[in-house]
Amino acid sequence: NTTHFGFKQVATEDKVNLVRGVFDSVAGQYDIMNDLMSLGIHRIWKRVAVQLSNVRKGEQVLDLAGGTGDLTTLFEKRVGPEGQIVLADINSEMLRTGRDRLIDRGLVGNIRYAQVNAECLPFEDNTFDCVCIAFGLRNVTDKDAALRSMHRVLKPGGRVIVLEFSHPVDKITEKVYDFYSFKLLPKIGKIVAKDEDSYRYLAESIRMHPKQDELKKMMENAGLERCEYFNMTQGIVAVHRGYKI
Ligand code: SAM
Repeated sequence: NTTHFGFKQVATEDKVNLVRGVFDSVAGQYDIMNDLMSLGIHRIWKRVAVQLSNVRKGEQVLDLAGGTGDLTTLFEKRVGPEGQIVLADINSEMLRTGRDRLIDRGLVGNIRYAQVNAECLPFEDNTFDCVCIAFGLRNVTDKDAALRSMHRVLKPGGRVIVLEFSHPVDKITEKVYDFYSFKLLPKIGKIVAKDEDSYRYLAESIRMHPKQDELKKMMENAGLERCEYFNMTQGIVAVHRGYKI
Protein backbone atom coordinates (compact mmCIF):
# COMPACT_ATOMS: atom_id res chain seq x y z
CA ASN A 1 0.00 0.00 0.00
CA THR A 2 2.77 2.42 -0.92
CA THR A 3 2.68 5.42 -3.20
CA HIS A 4 4.75 6.56 -6.16
CA PHE A 5 6.75 9.01 -4.11
CA GLY A 6 6.82 7.16 -0.82
CA PHE A 7 5.67 10.01 1.31
CA LYS A 8 3.39 7.89 3.44
CA GLN A 9 4.34 8.16 7.08
CA VAL A 10 6.56 5.18 7.69
CA ALA A 11 9.15 4.18 10.23
CA THR A 12 12.45 5.93 9.50
CA GLU A 13 14.32 2.71 8.85
CA ASP A 14 11.78 1.75 6.19
CA LYS A 15 11.87 5.08 4.42
CA VAL A 16 15.14 4.62 2.53
CA ASN A 17 13.93 1.34 1.04
CA LEU A 18 10.53 2.79 0.37
CA VAL A 19 11.88 5.82 -1.51
CA ARG A 20 14.23 3.53 -3.43
CA GLY A 21 11.32 1.28 -4.36
CA VAL A 22 8.71 3.85 -5.18
CA PHE A 23 10.79 5.68 -7.74
CA ASP A 24 10.95 2.38 -9.65
CA SER A 25 7.31 2.81 -10.50
CA VAL A 26 7.59 6.41 -11.71
CA ALA A 27 10.85 6.30 -13.69
CA GLY A 28 9.02 5.98 -17.03
CA GLN A 29 6.39 8.68 -16.40
CA TYR A 30 8.64 10.93 -14.38
CA ASP A 31 9.51 13.45 -17.11
CA ILE A 32 5.99 13.95 -18.39
CA MET A 33 4.64 14.39 -14.86
CA ASN A 34 7.28 17.04 -14.13
CA ASP A 35 6.21 19.03 -17.17
CA LEU A 36 2.53 18.65 -16.37
CA MET A 37 2.77 19.41 -12.67
CA SER A 38 4.89 22.52 -13.07
CA LEU A 39 3.47 23.62 -16.45
CA GLY A 40 7.02 23.30 -17.77
CA ILE A 41 8.40 25.82 -15.28
CA HIS A 42 10.70 23.22 -13.69
CA ARG A 43 12.97 23.69 -16.72
CA ILE A 44 13.47 27.36 -15.80
CA TRP A 45 14.06 26.54 -12.10
CA LYS A 46 16.73 24.03 -13.12
CA ARG A 47 18.43 26.50 -15.47
CA VAL A 48 18.57 29.15 -12.75
CA ALA A 49 20.01 26.63 -10.24
CA VAL A 50 22.75 25.67 -12.70
CA GLN A 51 23.54 29.33 -13.37
CA LEU A 52 23.83 29.98 -9.63
CA SER A 53 26.30 27.09 -9.37
CA ASN A 54 28.83 29.09 -11.43
CA VAL A 55 30.17 25.79 -12.74
CA ARG A 56 32.94 26.37 -15.28
CA LYS A 57 34.86 24.47 -17.93
CA GLY A 58 36.87 21.53 -16.66
CA GLU A 59 35.11 21.24 -13.28
CA GLN A 60 33.96 18.10 -11.47
CA VAL A 61 30.24 18.04 -10.63
CA LEU A 62 28.12 15.62 -8.60
CA ASP A 63 24.45 15.63 -9.70
CA LEU A 64 23.06 13.95 -6.60
CA ALA A 65 19.55 12.42 -6.66
CA GLY A 66 20.04 13.19 -10.34
CA GLY A 67 17.17 10.99 -11.52
CA THR A 68 16.65 11.19 -15.25
CA GLY A 69 19.53 13.62 -15.75
CA ASP A 70 18.01 17.07 -16.48
CA LEU A 71 20.66 18.84 -14.39
CA THR A 72 23.46 16.66 -15.78
CA THR A 73 22.49 17.76 -19.30
CA LEU A 74 22.74 21.43 -18.28
CA PHE A 75 26.02 20.94 -16.38
CA GLU A 76 27.53 19.04 -19.30
CA LYS A 77 27.30 22.16 -21.49
CA ARG A 78 29.23 24.11 -18.86
CA VAL A 79 32.04 21.69 -17.96
CA GLY A 80 32.81 20.68 -21.54
CA PRO A 81 34.88 17.63 -22.48
CA GLU A 82 37.61 18.52 -19.95
CA GLY A 83 35.20 18.33 -17.02
CA GLN A 84 33.27 15.46 -15.52
CA ILE A 85 29.82 14.88 -14.06
CA VAL A 86 28.74 12.01 -11.84
CA LEU A 87 25.01 11.34 -12.08
CA ALA A 88 24.18 9.66 -8.79
CA ASP A 89 20.88 8.32 -7.49
CA ILE A 90 19.70 5.75 -4.97
CA ASN A 91 17.34 4.21 -7.49
CA SER A 92 18.65 1.98 -10.26
CA GLU A 93 15.59 2.45 -12.51
CA MET A 94 15.87 6.24 -12.40
CA LEU A 95 19.62 5.93 -13.12
CA ARG A 96 19.00 3.58 -16.04
CA THR A 97 16.33 5.86 -17.50
CA GLY A 98 18.71 8.82 -17.07
CA ARG A 99 21.65 7.03 -18.65
CA ASP A 100 19.56 5.97 -21.68
CA ARG A 101 18.31 9.53 -22.16
CA LEU A 102 21.80 11.04 -21.94
CA ILE A 103 23.28 8.48 -24.34
CA ASP A 104 20.42 9.14 -26.78
CA ARG A 105 21.38 12.81 -26.68
CA GLY A 106 24.96 11.89 -27.54
CA LEU A 107 26.23 12.87 -24.09
CA VAL A 108 28.97 10.33 -23.47
CA GLY A 109 32.58 10.39 -22.35
CA ASN A 110 32.51 12.82 -19.47
CA ILE A 111 29.52 11.44 -17.54
CA ARG A 112 29.73 8.64 -14.97
CA TYR A 113 26.95 6.93 -13.05
CA ALA A 114 26.78 5.83 -9.44
CA GLN A 115 24.07 4.24 -7.33
CA VAL A 116 24.46 5.96 -3.96
CA ASN A 117 22.61 7.03 -0.86
CA ALA A 118 23.04 10.78 -0.29
CA GLU A 119 23.42 10.16 3.44
CA CYS A 120 26.76 8.33 3.04
CA LEU A 121 28.43 9.25 -0.22
CA PRO A 122 31.06 6.73 -1.38
CA PHE A 123 33.49 9.35 -2.72
CA GLU A 124 36.84 10.58 -1.41
CA ASP A 125 37.01 13.82 0.56
CA ASN A 126 37.55 16.97 -1.55
CA THR A 127 36.49 15.46 -4.90
CA PHE A 128 33.95 17.84 -6.46
CA ASP A 129 33.83 21.52 -7.39
CA CYS A 130 30.05 21.45 -7.14
CA VAL A 131 27.54 19.10 -5.53
CA CYS A 132 23.98 19.73 -6.65
CA ILE A 133 20.83 18.08 -5.32
CA ALA A 134 17.64 19.05 -7.17
CA PHE A 135 14.24 18.04 -5.85
CA GLY A 136 16.00 15.28 -3.95
CA LEU A 137 16.79 16.47 -0.42
CA ARG A 138 13.10 16.37 0.47
CA ASN A 139 13.13 12.60 0.03
CA VAL A 140 16.23 11.98 2.12
CA THR A 141 15.52 10.64 5.61
CA ASP A 142 18.55 12.09 7.41
CA LYS A 143 19.00 15.46 5.72
CA ASP A 144 21.72 16.58 8.16
CA ALA A 145 23.80 13.50 7.35
CA ALA A 146 23.32 14.15 3.63
CA LEU A 147 24.44 17.78 3.95
CA ARG A 148 27.52 16.74 5.97
CA SER A 149 28.36 14.11 3.38
CA MET A 150 27.96 16.65 0.56
CA HIS A 151 30.25 19.07 2.41
CA ARG A 152 32.87 16.34 2.92
CA VAL A 153 33.16 15.43 -0.78
CA LEU A 154 33.43 19.08 -1.87
CA LYS A 155 36.82 20.58 -2.65
CA PRO A 156 37.70 23.72 -0.70
CA GLY A 157 36.16 26.57 -2.71
CA GLY A 158 33.47 24.22 -3.98
CA ARG A 159 29.75 24.83 -3.55
CA VAL A 160 26.61 22.94 -2.70
CA ILE A 161 23.45 23.80 -4.59
CA VAL A 162 20.09 22.64 -3.23
CA LEU A 163 17.12 23.17 -5.53
CA GLU A 164 13.92 22.24 -3.74
CA PHE A 165 10.27 23.06 -3.27
CA SER A 166 9.98 25.59 -0.50
CA HIS A 167 7.44 27.90 1.09
CA PRO A 168 5.51 30.74 -0.61
CA VAL A 169 6.52 34.18 0.57
CA ASP A 170 3.08 35.82 0.47
CA LYS A 171 -0.46 34.89 1.48
CA ILE A 172 -2.03 35.07 -1.98
CA THR A 173 0.55 32.73 -3.52
CA GLU A 174 0.12 30.42 -0.53
CA LYS A 175 -3.66 30.21 -1.05
CA VAL A 176 -3.42 29.61 -4.80
CA TYR A 177 -0.63 27.09 -4.29
CA ASP A 178 -2.56 25.23 -1.56
CA PHE A 179 -5.56 24.92 -3.85
CA TYR A 180 -3.38 23.76 -6.73
CA SER A 181 -1.31 21.24 -4.82
CA PHE A 182 -3.95 19.80 -2.47
CA LYS A 183 -6.96 19.84 -4.81
CA LEU A 184 -5.82 19.95 -8.44
CA LEU A 185 -2.53 18.05 -8.33
CA PRO A 186 -3.97 14.80 -6.92
CA LYS A 187 -6.57 14.86 -9.75
CA ILE A 188 -3.85 15.29 -12.37
CA GLY A 189 -1.98 12.41 -10.71
CA LYS A 190 -5.10 10.30 -10.82
CA ILE A 191 -5.66 10.87 -14.53
CA VAL A 192 -2.07 10.73 -15.79
CA ALA A 193 -0.26 8.41 -13.38
CA LYS A 194 -3.37 6.61 -12.05
CA ASP A 195 -2.22 7.37 -8.55
CA GLU A 196 -4.04 10.09 -6.64
CA ASP A 197 -2.47 9.29 -3.26
CA SER A 198 1.09 9.79 -4.44
CA TYR A 199 0.42 13.33 -5.48
CA ARG A 200 -1.41 14.14 -2.26
CA TYR A 201 1.61 12.89 -0.33
CA LEU A 202 3.88 14.89 -2.62
CA ALA A 203 2.04 18.06 -1.54
CA GLU A 204 2.26 17.03 2.10
CA SER A 205 5.97 16.30 1.91
CA ILE A 206 6.55 19.76 0.46
CA ARG A 207 4.74 21.34 3.41
CA MET A 208 6.89 19.33 5.82
CA HIS A 209 10.17 20.35 4.17
CA PRO A 210 12.19 22.92 6.19
CA LYS A 211 11.47 26.57 5.50
CA GLN A 212 14.08 28.65 3.64
CA ASP A 213 15.83 29.99 6.76
CA GLU A 214 15.76 26.62 8.50
CA LEU A 215 17.43 24.87 5.57
CA LYS A 216 20.05 27.64 5.44
CA LYS A 217 20.79 26.97 9.13
CA MET A 218 21.04 23.22 8.48
CA MET A 219 23.58 23.90 5.74
CA GLU A 220 25.63 26.06 8.10
CA ASN A 221 25.48 23.33 10.75
CA ALA A 222 26.85 20.90 8.18
CA GLY A 223 29.94 23.12 7.82
CA LEU A 224 28.97 25.13 4.74
CA GLU A 225 29.77 28.83 4.70
CA ARG A 226 28.42 31.99 3.03
CA CYS A 227 25.05 30.23 2.80
CA GLU A 228 22.24 32.09 1.07
CA TYR A 229 19.07 31.33 -0.81
CA PHE A 230 17.22 32.63 -3.84
CA ASN A 231 13.44 32.30 -4.00
CA MET A 232 11.80 31.58 -7.31
CA THR A 233 8.11 31.74 -8.26
CA GLN A 234 7.34 33.56 -5.00
CA GLY A 235 9.11 30.94 -2.87
CA ILE A 236 7.35 27.91 -4.30
CA VAL A 237 10.88 26.83 -5.11
CA ALA A 238 14.20 28.01 -3.66
CA VAL A 239 17.84 27.53 -4.55
CA HIS A 240 20.16 27.35 -1.55
CA ARG A 241 23.89 27.81 -2.07
CA GLY A 242 26.75 27.30 0.35
CA TYR A 243 30.54 27.05 0.05
CA LYS A 244 33.25 24.93 1.57
CA ILE A 245 35.96 27.36 2.52
N1 SAM B 1 17.17 15.71 -9.78
C1 SAM B 1 16.18 15.16 -10.68
C2 SAM B 1 15.30 16.26 -11.23
O1 SAM B 1 15.33 17.35 -10.67
O2 SAM B 1 14.59 16.02 -12.21
C3 SAM B 1 15.36 14.05 -10.01
C4 SAM B 1 14.50 14.46 -8.84
S1 SAM B 1 13.43 13.18 -8.25
C5 SAM B 1 12.03 14.11 -7.67
C6 SAM B 1 14.13 12.69 -6.74
C7 SAM B 1 15.23 11.65 -6.89
O3 SAM B 1 15.84 11.49 -5.62
C8 SAM B 1 14.76 10.26 -7.31
O4 SAM B 1 15.42 9.89 -8.50
C9 SAM B 1 15.12 9.36 -6.14
O5 SAM B 1 15.48 8.06 -6.51
C10 SAM B 1 16.28 10.14 -5.52
N2 SAM B 1 16.56 9.86 -4.11
C11 SAM B 1 15.67 9.74 -3.10
N3 SAM B 1 16.29 9.49 -1.93
C12 SAM B 1 17.63 9.47 -2.21
C13 SAM B 1 18.80 9.27 -1.42
N4 SAM B 1 18.73 9.03 -0.12
N5 SAM B 1 20.00 9.30 -2.03
C14 SAM B 1 20.10 9.53 -3.36
N6 SAM B 1 19.03 9.73 -4.16
C15 SAM B 1 17.81 9.71 -3.59
